[in-house]
Amino acid sequence: MDKFLRRKDSSSRTGDEEPSTSVTKNLKKVVKRKYDEDYIKYGFSWCGDETAPRPQCIICGDQLSNESMVPSKLKRHLYSGHPSCANKGKQYFKRCLEQNKKQKKFIKSAVTVSEKALEASYHVAKLIARQKKPHTVGETLIKPACREIVRLMLGPNEVKEVNKVSLSADTVKRRIHDMPSDILGTLIKKLLSAEKFALQIALREIAFSSRTTLH
Ligand SMILES: [Zn+2]
Repeated sequence: MDKFLRRKDSSSRTGDEEPSTSVTKNLKKVVKRKYDEDYIKYGFSWCGDETAPRPQCIICGDQLSNESMVPSKLKRHLYSGHPSCANKGKQYFKRCLEQNKKQKKFIKSAVTVSEKALEASYHVAKLIARQKKPHTVGETLIKPACREIVRLMLGPNEVKEVNKVSLSADTVKRRIHDMPSDILGTLIKKLLSAEKFALQIALREIAFSSRTTLH
């Protein structure tokens, strides 16, 4: 309620003054609250900008505004949102936080590696298609060559990353097959939101892309 009142108050004030002066006054007025290590007992960590951190609930992940970085508001979230955890204490929340961090790291690395590997696989498949090489060249030449280059230039550990890129004949074939349909899908989406005259250009583009990508 007080948040609501304060907002209303400041907006009515900015309306009365010239924009340039009100901006300076508002900047001066904004109090950036800092995170206190002690807030972990309310089940809160922080996220975002270090100069104006936002409280983040360790249990549900909710992010509150910087102005909610006060014990009363953090406590309110804990007691109303997670009453069963209200009396767990610092150690419990510290453990939860550690677990969250580990999980986040794990998920992040799993996602980025597989996404990169997938992207690399598509890029190589495109090269194979453009050069009109057999689909098997991915596993018989390109991948072994990449492994050698990476092993010598970066080291044996990095070779493991190269191994994640699937370049088997079947995969390459599938990727090449996927490409025109993907282009077609994108074009259909564009067409639905475009003007009629775009149709001719799009059809020409489809014909062109299937000529260059297929062999
Ligand atoms: Zn929460």
